[in-house]
Amino acid sequence: MDFNKTRYIPMSRRRRIYEGKAKTLYEGPEPGTLIQHFKDDATAFNAKKHQIIEGKGVLNNRISEYIFQHLNDIGVPTHFIKRLNMREQLIREVEIVPLEVVVRNVAAGSLSQRLGIEEGTQLPRSIIEFYYKNDQLGDPMVSEEHITAFGWATPQEIDDMMALAIRVNDFLTGLFLGVGIRLVDFKMECGRLFENDMMRIIVADEISPDSCRLWDIKSNEKMDKDRFRRDLGGLLEAYTEVAKRLGILVDQDRPAGSGPVLVKS
Ligand code: UDP
Repeated sequence: MDFNKTRYIPMSRRRRIYEGKAKTLYEGPEPGTLIQHFKDDATAFNAKKHQIIEGKGVLNNRISEYIFQHLNDIGVPTHFIKRLNMREQLIREVEIVPLEVVVRNVAAGSLSQRLGIEEGTQLPRSIIEFYYKNDQLGDPMVSEEHITAFGWATPQEIDDMMALAIRVNDFLTGLFLGVGIRLVDFKMECGRLFENDMMRIIVADEISPDSCRLWDIKSNEKMDKDRFRRDLGGLLEAYTEVAKRLGILVDQDRPAGSGPVLVKS
C-alpha cells in the first residue's frame, strides 16, 4: 500500500469512529487505517478535572510521532504509519486490548500512595502493572489472573505485552536520559493487528508527556501531565521543552498554539 498517496478527505466528511478524552479517531483513507486526531483537552481524575490547553494536541502529535517512528525503526511494532499534519497521524486499525500497561522505574503517583513509598525512590527493578480500561470503574488495577479469567487477554498476549513494555521502557529510558530527563513511569496501550490469517500484538494509542512522568535530571522539575493534575501551571512550556530537547522543535519555532503573527514589511 502506498501511504504517500493518502487521499485527502475534508474533516467535515470524515466518519468519526471514536471520540476519546484527548483524541478522536476518524476513518482512514484505506481499509485497515485510521486517522488519529490530537485535541487540546486535558483531563485528570477520571475526567472530573478538564481544561483546554491550546497547543497541547500539536505538541503531543509531534512527540508521539517521534517516539513511535523510532520504535518502528528499532523493530518494536506500533500502529503508527505517518504524521499527516499538525494534529493528525495515519495509523493502522487495531483491536485495542482493554488494558493500560504501566511501567515504573521510580516511585510516584498511585504506587507511592498505595504502598507508602516516597516519590522519587528508585525502584529495585522496573515494575509492570495492568489496569482495566473502564471509566465507570476508574481504571482499576488488575492481576494476570483477572485478565485471563475475564478474557481481556490470553496468557500469550500478556507475555507479548510485557515483552513490548520492557523494550519500550529500555528505549524511552535511554532516549530521555540522553536529553537530561528521567523517565519515572509511563502508560502504554496495545492492540491486536490482524494481517492475512495472522494476529499480533503491537503498541497503539500515544506515548507523550500526557502518559509519561518525566522529571528534569538536575532540577527534578516535572515536565509532564502532573503539571496539570497538581495545578503547577506551565504545562505547555514543559511539553515544548521536552519537544525541543528531543530536537523536534527548533528554538526559533513559535510557541505551539500561538496565533498568526503579523509580518511587518
Ligand atoms: N497514566 C495514564 N493514563 C491513566 C493513568 C495513568 O497515562 O489513565 C500514566 C500516568 O501519566 C503515569 C503512569 O501512567 O505516567 C502511572 O500513573 P499512576 O498509576 O501513578 O496514576 P496517577 O497518579 O496518574 O493517578
